[in-house]
Amino acid sequence: MKFLSRLFLTKDEKRRLTTPILLVVIAVLVSILIHSLNPFVPPIEKKISLGISIGGILYSLLHYFVLIPFSNEHRSFHWLLALINGILISIALGLEPFTSLRSLSLIFTIASITTTSIVSSRRYSYFLLGIVSASRIVFENPVWSVWDPGFWLEATSYPIIGILITESILILKNTIYSQIRRMEILNNVAQSLASSLEIHQVIALLSSAIQNSLDADTYYVGLLEGDNKIRLDLFYDDGEFFPPRGVPLENTMAGWVIENRSPLFLNNVLHDTKQLGIPFTIIGKQKISKSWMGTLLEANGEVLGIVAVASYETSAFNYADFELIQNVAQQASMAIDNAYHHAEVEKQSTLDSLTGALNHGHFLKSLASEADSARMSGTNLSLIMLDIDHFKLYNDNYGHLIGDQVLFLLTEIIQKHIKSTDLVGRWGGEEFVIALPNTNGVQAFGVAQRIQVSMNALTLTDREDNPIPAPSVSQGIAVLPKETTSIYTLIDLADQRLYIAKERGRNQIDPLLSHWDKKILITE
Ligand code: GH3
Ligand code: MG
Ligand code: MG
Repeated sequence: MKFLSRLFLTKDEKRRLTTPILLVVIAVLVSILIHSLNPFVPPIEKKISLGISIGGILYSLLHYFVLIPFSNEHRSFHWLLALINGILISIALGLEPFTSLRSLSLIFTIASITTTSIVSSRRYSYFLLGIVSASRIVFENPVWSVWDPGFWLEATSYPIIGILITESILILKNTIYSQIRRMEILNNVAQSLASSLEIHQVIALLSSAIQNSLDADTYYVGLLEGDNKIRLDLFYDDGEFFPPRGVPLENTMAGWVIENRSPLFLNNVLHDTKQLGIPFTIIGKQKISKSWMGTLLEANGEVLGIVAVASYETSAFNYADFELIQNVAQQASMAIDNAYHHAEVEKQSTLDSLTGALNHGHFLKSLASEADSARMSGTNLSLIMLDIDHFKLYNDNYGHLIGDQVLFLLTEIIQKHIKSTDLVGRWGGEEFVIALPNTNGVQAFGVAQRIQVSMNALTLTDREDNPIPAPSVSQGIAVLPKETTSIYTLIDLADQRLYIAKERGRNQIDPLLSHWDKKILITE
């Protein structure tokens, strides 16, 4: 992301801002020209007025149309231009006593300082001002006396006027720059956010927008987790990023923002939180934030989280900063909402729609990566292949809808007996696969047994609410890398064993526990 691409006014903006100055100067010079044509004006004054007016008009046009655009391209030319202008005004100052035009040099000074402040910067304005003020003292010295208080007033009048003009224009220019900067940040953020489909990408963009636009010591992006907790996915404090973590919302400024569904702007945290009745809590470093502003992340009327920015100084932010953070948060909210939806769609595409188990393709992919981890860490990965017994008959007897319900309940039972790191997939029809990382044959047999018992205990009712028995399941187990290192052989082996279980009479698990645990073989 690139911010601050425009640190300076464009050529066109400079031209528009200096046009009124040119027009005023030309009007003054034309009036001098007209004055010089008056037959009662003494010949010396006539010549000087004529020279000043014609020379002045020509130079003003040259300055406006050629010299300013040229200085735009060549920065070192600013010094030369300030020097030329200073010398020309000094000449006008020198000639002034010979004319009746007493304030001519003052008008030229004001025009020149204003133009220089607009097209160049502070140092060139003051350079020009220095030349003019010095030559004014030199030219008008005979009249002045340092003991005369009027001298000091006269001597400082030009610098005072020049400083006032330069500083006022610079303040205005800086205000314009910061507005442009804000708009650029918003534009950049909006553009980048519109194409972000990952939550982490959105958060990274938010982070750089805050860092580039605000003078913040601390900032965080918290996404709502339940009703009274946020997860700080991004947390920056005093030059350091902290790892993600959950933070309770109770009695916090973030909690206030979420509860009141309103942004909060505090310029004196200790004082303002007391007024709001929020006890003071510190997260991150043990340094106290004195300025704080936070705004909601919300989309479609639903609160997603909060963005907060803080500083260790009081009154560190102004209202424009507050507006900026709210605008950025609004853009980010839409992007986060999009990312949530995208993640949901992606997740759904990996799941079987009836049971919520992983679909065939996604299970295979996940199994492959689990097998890689098992091989690398030298741990066991067990696979259970499970098939419902006589399910065709079951469907025929009780109807397809009851059959569907059994598939759903079976998945629930499986999920209940496995860990969150285990995987369950619908292999096809009424056949399921379960991958158990870090699990040996004995442990996998235990899981299969628990599923078998739960299935046998499951009671269902038919359409007339009469209880009907649930079908049993047959299961085959294989273990990687103990029996094979290939996931396809692992699946084949579990499948073959499933059919051995079927042949043994169904509602069985193959191999028997003794296959895995030799001690059991001895005692059996
Ligand atoms: P076995 O004990 O040998 O496995 O007998 P089975 O009847 O379970 O085996 P078979 O493969 O012949 O039949 C599987 C049945 O599973 C056929 C089909 O009616 C049923 N089935 C497959 N998918 C679904 C489903 O999504 N919903 C319902 N209700 N039944 C399904
Ligand atoms: Mg079956
Ligand atoms: Mg089958």
